[in-house]
Amino acid sequence: MKLQMVDLGGQFKKIEKEVDLAIKEVLNSSAFINGPKVHEFQHQLEKYLDIKHVIPCANGTDALQVALMALDLKQGDEIICPDFTFVATAEVVKLLGLKAIFVDVDKDTFLIDIDKIRAAITPNTRAIIPVHLFGQCANMEAIQEIAAENNLYVIEDTAQAIGAAFTFENGTKQKAGTIGTIGTTSFFPSKNLGCYGDGGAIFTNDDKLAEKMRKMVNHGMEDRYYYKYIGVNSRLDTLQAAVLSIKLKHLQSYNASRIEAANYYDTLFKHEEKISIPIRTNNSSHIFHQYTLKLNDVDRDKLCVYLQEKGIPFGIYYPVPLHLHKPYFDERFVNENFSNTNSLCKRVLSLPMHTELTEDQIAFISNAIIEFING
Ligand SMILES: *Cc1c(COP(=O)(O)O)cnc(C)c1O
Repeated sequence: MKLQMVDLGGQFKKIEKEVDLAIKEVLNSSAFINGPKVHEFQHQLEKYLDIKHVIPCANGTDALQVALMALDLKQGDEIICPDFTFVATAEVVKLLGLKAIFVDVDKDTFLIDIDKIRAAITPNTRAIIPVHLFGQCANMEAIQEIAAENNLYVIEDTAQAIGAAFTFENGTKQKAGTIGTIGTTSFFPSKNLGCYGDGGAIFTNDDKLAEKMRKMVNHGMEDRYYYKYIGVNSRLDTLQAAVLSIKLKHLQSYNASRIEAANYYDTLFKHEEKISIPIRTNNSSHIFHQYTLKLNDVDRDKLCVYLQEKGIPFGIYYPVPLHLHKPYFDERFVNENFSNTNSLCKRVLSLPMHTELTEDQIAFISNAIIEFING
């Protein structure tokens, strides 16, 4: 059985004709940068997310960087980030001379711990970057409350959760990335909405921030060759926008396929004592960017060797807490305060998760793991 962590080829086959046509159209137009398809995609995404402004850019890391650049922060300002996330979330903070203050995550949901956010706030704190990790929203209701009480910006890192929705206690539903001051996402090929190269976007309902960030992604240019800000060169190219326009129409069904696959994994694993299946919060949908198990008393290294032998792909997201990486050291960090992340890094195991997974494949993967664990 040929198994892949992500089956982009299988997904492509189903939209091949449409993609071919769209790419041909861009090639014939020669409008490779800022072509009409970029604006078309921008407006489609604004409508899909129900947000006023989408600013397409070159990747999800740039999206985070430009979001921070737009907020008038000063050197040494503190930005609260989860300890358990992809490095990009904190990398841009350090790159801009800001302080990345890590906080632990919840041991069950892998999402930023709300009480730990409160405890990390100082007079220098200016922003929180919650990450909607693995496809599920952080507790945005609590985070928005904390931000309002302490006058903080909120940048939602939605790279892994585009299309997920958060439900507030009053029943209001909002899409991930549209709740905080700014939302950011990535269209890296393996993300839930991925293009065929690099891509990203920034979202906001704030007109002034939108105008500023739209200029910042294009060198801070106001009028042709007149510069209002220090910016970056970070544009979504037209070919990628053309692909994304097509794939956005399928996002709902792509996410539904992932949820279906996750449900099936759940049914096969749920009675295994040594495996904790992903916990779904009651205030967010989960669109399973990753299907991540927590192993209880299992030798993960041995299991990984076994999976390799069986031809079963897997991922360890993430093997080391961010606070332990040398460039991210801060004298305020006390290792014991990160007990959940420390433990998760040793116990998590992500299994193949994509839109083309079949029940047979899921059964094969699950049975192999169950056999190893009980053997
Ligand atoms: C993928 C990812 C990013 C970065 O996106 P790129 O497009 O690869 O730059 C940022 N944050 C998280 C949580 C991610 O998963």
